[in-house]
Amino acid sequence: MESYVGNSRDMLTFIEKSPSCFHAVDNLKAMLKERGFKELSEEDAFELKKGEGYYISRNDSSLLAFRLPQEEAGAFHITSAHSDSPCFKVKENPEIGVEGQYVKLNVEKYGGMIDSTWLDRPLSVAGRIVVKEKEGLVSKLVNIDRDLLVIPNLAIHMNRDMNKGMEYNAQTDLLPLFGDRDGKGSFRELLAKEAKVDEAAVLGYDLYLYVREKGRLLGSHEEFVFSPRLDDLQCAYACMRALAESKPPAQAVNVCVVFDNEEIGSGTRQGAASTFLADQLKRIYKALPGKRAEYKRMLAKSFMISADNAQAVHPNHPEKADPTNRPYPNGGVVIKFHGSQRYATDAFSAARMRDICSRSGVPCQTYHNRSDMAGGSTLGNISTAQVSVSTVDIGLAQLAMHSACETAGVKDTEYLLNAVRCFYEEA
Ligand code: ZN
Repeated sequence: MESYVGNSRDMLTFIEKSPSCFHAVDNLKAMLKERGFKELSEEDAFELKKGEGYYISRNDSSLLAFRLPQEEAGAFHITSAHSDSPCFKVKENPEIGVEGQYVKLNVEKYGGMIDSTWLDRPLSVAGRIVVKEKEGLVSKLVNIDRDLLVIPNLAIHMNRDMNKGMEYNAQTDLLPLFGDRDGKGSFRELLAKEAKVDEAAVLGYDLYLYVREKGRLLGSHEEFVFSPRLDDLQCAYACMRALAESKPPAQAVNVCVVFDNEEIGSGTRQGAASTFLADQLKRIYKALPGKRAEYKRMLAKSFMISADNAQAVHPNHPEKADPTNRPYPNGGVVIKFHGSQRYATDAFSAARMRDICSRSGVPCQTYHNRSDMAGGSTLGNISTAQVSVSTVDIGLAQLAMHSACETAGVKDTEYLLNAVRCFYEEA
């Protein structure tokens, strides 16, 4: 088996075990722990040793991991990605009875998904609950690991115009069916049972719907990966694994940060617009053992690779992509550019990324929006407003971004892994 197949299969297994941002962070922590990284808390003082790795989380949904150099630290080498994906969030008092015959759940949209892709497929619920225990309030991961819900379409006989384009109303068309007449009152009971706690002890929750589809390879010679949440768990996995596996750097502090809430604008306590990254960098700097350069001189020498998946040229709509910048799955790392700097890439950071790709034997491609289309935004320019370091925005090419299931290239996970590993092992 080619190594890229194994690496993409490992990435798909990680995504399957990560139905919510909380699970993604938990699984990334396990990967780091296995490699000898130690957990720190924002509430405690940092005591750091040369060559060692550490990780710290905020809200259990954003995670920052780092490894100290063997010698004097002169710069930060940072990668970033995001842990969240568009989905539906379960509201408080979620059960809604319909004519005494059905129970559905009241949910709201989280981020900008392609609505129709969530219909007529098995769904379930995952996230965290907060429980009152003897020692205080405790957060617990929950995943109802079975086919539980469905958002059924209206029959075509009841809406003959459906194939002319359907606008879904989030309060009426997109609520999942949870049960028949016997389902009433059982949602909280199910949660409590799953978490092995008393129903009355559950004082809060952040719960999301997820699609039950398992990741798989497909295509004429299995050249594509198909999975929920490739945006951005494919990049989060590759960047964090590269950090976990790379050798201790000579003179840089290697950092990988995975932010929550990119899909809703990053403006939360743990998002890319928060102080999460800046706070940790300052604290790491203060706790660095031995001699070190001045903090601001270190920042001036630092570099960030902001990794968030990119839109590939679409096989049915090649005209939607820019005429001269045409990324494809399995074409390698995509460097993203934007004239108004919604991507942070500039000539210098693009050149540095191209150099990293060439040294690691990884092909690279470029992305611009068509000049007559507004594109998305990402982490790079948001986090540089907090920590101003030279940054390149990159991603892996994928189709159907923000669909419940997305398609990307089987070789690209390994390409990103190799490029980031090369960046972390730079002298
Ligand atoms: Zn993304």
